[in-house]
Amino acid sequence: MSNFAFPPPASPTVPVEGGPEGSGVVFPVRRILCVGRNYAAHRREMGGDERDPPFFFAKPADAIVALTKPGEVPYPVATHDLHHEIELVAALKSGGANIAVEAAMDCVFGYAVGVDLTRRDLQAAAKAKGQPWDAAKGFDASAPISAIRPAGQARPDGAIRLSVNGQLRQTGQVANMIWTIPEIIAEASKLWTLAAGDLIFTGTPEGVAALGRGDRVEGEVEGVGQLAFTVV
Ligand code: MN
Repeated sequence: MSNFAFPPPASPTVPVEGGPEGSGVVFPVRRILCVGRNYAAHRREMGGDERDPPFFFAKPADAIVALTKPGEVPYPVATHDLHHEIELVAALKSGGANIAVEAAMDCVFGYAVGVDLTRRDLQAAAKAKGQPWDAAKGFDASAPISAIRPAGQARPDGAIRLSVNGQLRQTGQVANMIWTIPEIIAEASKLWTLAAGDLIFTGTPEGVAALGRGDRVEGEVEGVGQLAFTVV
């Protein structure tokens, strides 16, 4: 028996690759952290420079849109400038506070391909007023994500790319991240106690641009997976 005032919402989940066909293993999402400006060329295109280290922001767990096959993502309300940001995502099976860089990889359950959808016009307005980014980054359905590939079967060190309607928009190399995966986990754990179920979007390479209704988005991280969706 519980005293919930109403039935609690189910935990958002992301399917896990590689189990027996139809095994239905899913990763329960606890929190979503995101790294900003983790590729130098994207930092430049957003007006930053080498004196600006990467930083964190967050999305709510229920911003997840899990895509194991081509799907649909709604064009959000309250924007006229929805941007795509293709990102490698690390999925944690354990956590803690003040995790050492050398121990950080022990926390990784697997990896996925994500898109950090951004209401860029709201972000620009927030930046101009020194206001928080929640409305720009943490809106409904702002985190499309592929299935999670277990760490033992993933090689998250290759190319990362995103195309829209068959035209390449973003391309980079995961190896060009300013903070590596273990550095990101160590840095995040200085600010939050990390735990199993946490997802970390690790930043986007250059080439972010606008999406419109009807656009077909295809994203890939070599060695990790792919995702595809149409904006509706
Ligand atoms: Mn991003």
